[in-house]
Amino acid sequence: MADPAQCSIKVVCRFRPLNSSEVARGDKYIPKFQGEDCVTIGGKPYYFDRVFQSNTTQVQFYNAVAQKIVKDVLEGYNGTIFAYGQTSSGKTHTMEVSYFEIYLDKIRDLLDVTKTNLSVHEDKNRVPYVKGCTERFVCSPQEVMDAIDEGKNNRHVAVTNMNEHSSRSHSIFLINIKQENTQTEQKLTGKLYLVDLAGSEKVGKTGAEGTVLDEAKMINKSLSSLGIVISALAEGSSYIPYRDSKMTRILQDSLGGNCRTTMVICCSPSSFNDAETKSTLLFGQRAK
Ligand code: ADP
Ligand code: MG
Repeated sequence: MADPAQCSIKVVCRFRPLNSSEVARGDKYIPKFQGEDCVTIGGKPYYFDRVFQSNTTQVQFYNAVAQKIVKDVLEGYNGTIFAYGQTSSGKTHTMEVSYFEIYLDKIRDLLDVTKTNLSVHEDKNRVPYVKGCTERFVCSPQEVMDAIDEGKNNRHVAVTNMNEHSSRSHSIFLINIKQENTQTEQKLTGKLYLVDLAGSEKVGKTGAEGTVLDEAKMINKSLSSLGIVISALAEGSSYIPYRDSKMTRILQDSLGGNCRTTMVICCSPSSFNDAETKSTLLFGQRAK
């Protein structure tokens, strides 16, 4: 049984393999792995709770990272899994799912395309939630997958270039689990958030104008406030600045309290992405 008082925050790191165009270009494979928790780039070590090499399968990754969180959610805890990294580093691949999304700090319902700007409210226990967001009642894994597919299709329909769009918006999938023991009438609720973050390469990019600049600023702000909240939680700090972004506000009761949070730092192994990979790894280290 998990310790209820303990809020557990883990940061793990996963490298994808070199892809065919990187191989064709003659890129070098730059990470060197040491033990289960360390990766070095150009001789500099970066430590995580676990580091997963490029040959890690989906099943191995799920068993090592997600399985425990899913089990705890079924026991009534709240859990969140984030995927952080530059575009094309393997975030979506790692989450397998992609519903609502946050784009330019606007919340869009991916199960009802008519709802394009939802707001954050608080319930009577002051727990924040997205007001009016579609809730789908599901009874089987197939129905969960159907909801995911529907959200994915809606996301595709609304945008012209899906790759570009997904690199600029955060997508959040929430699974609410309510269990009731019919004999004892005991109720158990748990939430699992799966968060596929916007591409981290937008952070700190200069020379952008207009909408692109607005996007860059918003992504920059939401990713940095997420980093600050996670490191404040990891340090056990008494003040956690949840209210600084919509995302941290929505996720508040799944990040603090009796939570299970894992940040997956996704990285490209290519020499071409050297600088971006180092800054991604540093973001992950700061969150620890
Ligand atoms: P992101 O969501 O970070 O932009 P994706 O998850 O879409 O990146 O990954 C980019 C490409 O790399 C996809 O074609 C994906 O299938 C592939 N890929 C990512 N991670 C892995 C991995 N660990 N093993 C094999 N292929 C991967
Ligand atoms: Mg993606």
